Amino acid sequence: MTRSLRDLIAESRRAVIFTGAGISTESGIPDFRSPGGIWSKMKPIYYDEFVGSEDKRRESWTRTFSGVMRWTGAAPNPGHYAVARLVARGKVASVITQNIDNLHQESGVPAGQVIELHGNASYATCLDCGLRHELEVLKQSFLGRGEIPACRDCGGIVKTATISFGQAMPPDKMERARAETLDCDLFIVLGSSLVVYPAAGFPLLAKENDARLVIVNKEPTEQDRYADLVIHDSIGAVMTAAAPLD
Ligand code: NAD
Ligand code: ZN
Repeated sequence: MTRSLRDLIAESRRAVIFTGAGISTESGIPDFRSPGGIWSKMKPIYYDEFVGSEDKRRESWTRTFSGVMRWTGAAPNPGHYAVARLVARGKVASVITQNIDNLHQESGVPAGQVIELHGNASYATCLDCGLRHELEVLKQSFLGRGEIPACRDCGGIVKTATISFGQAMPPDKMERARAETLDCDLFIVLGSSLVVYPAAGFPLLAKENDARLVIVNKEPTEQDRYADLVIHDSIGAVMTAAAPLD
C-alpha cells in the first residue's frame, strides 16, 4: 500500500495535501468526532454570541487560557514532518488544512503555502481593524486584571483568529484552495472524516478535474469509493514511509 503512495507521489508533478484533525492526534490533540473530542465535553460558542455578549467573551477566553481546548502548546509529529519534506522537495505546492493548531507551520511548511480554512488558534486578531494580537500578552491582562481582550489600536473586539461556528468561511482562502485543487494532479487527504462541508468538497473537485485522489484515514470515509488509493492506517507511519528521510 505505502509503496504505491510513494509511486503516486513520484509520478506527480504538482500535489496538494489536505489535512484534518486526524493528522494532529499523534501530537496529543483530540480529533473532533472521537468520544474524547472537545465538543462532546462543552458547547461551542457561536460567533454571534461571542460578538454580542461580554459574558460569552469571558467564557471563551477562559477556555482559551485554561488550555482546555488543547489546540495550542502541542508539537508537530512525524506526519507533519513528512508533509513538510514533500513541500521542501517541491512535490507539494500547498497544504490545505481544516486545523487551527499551527502545526504545519511549526513543522517547517512556509506560512504562505498553508491555506487555513478554519483559521488559527495560536494568535488573535481585532474583528474591526484586523490587527494581530499575541495570546501571551492578552493572557497576562486577562488572568492578572480580568480584562477582556480589546484592540490596543482601535478598541475593537479581539478574538482568536479561528473561524467560529456560525461565522462565514474566509472567501480568499476558499478561492485559493479551489485554485490549488484545480491545479494539482495528486490530492492527498490526511486525517479527515470528510463530513464538514464546504471543506470536504475539495477532494471530489480534484477527482472531477482528473487528479488522482488518495485518502489516508484510520476509519473509512464516505469518499473512499472515489479514491484511487485508500489507506486505513496511522498517518505518521504511512507518511514517513511515503516520504522517507534522505
Ligand atoms: P474529524 O475529527 O471529523 O475526523 C478526523 C479523522 O481522522 C477521523 O475519521 C479519524 O478516524 C482519523 N484519524 C484520527 N487519528 C488518526 C491517525 N493518527 N491516523 C489516521 N487517521 C486518524 O476531523 P475533521 O475532518 O478535521 O473535522 C473536524 C473539525 O474540527 C475541523 O473542521 C477542524 O477545524 C476542527 N478541529 C481541529 C483540530 C486541530 O486543529 N488539531 C482538532 C479538532 C477539531
Ligand atoms: Zn482594532
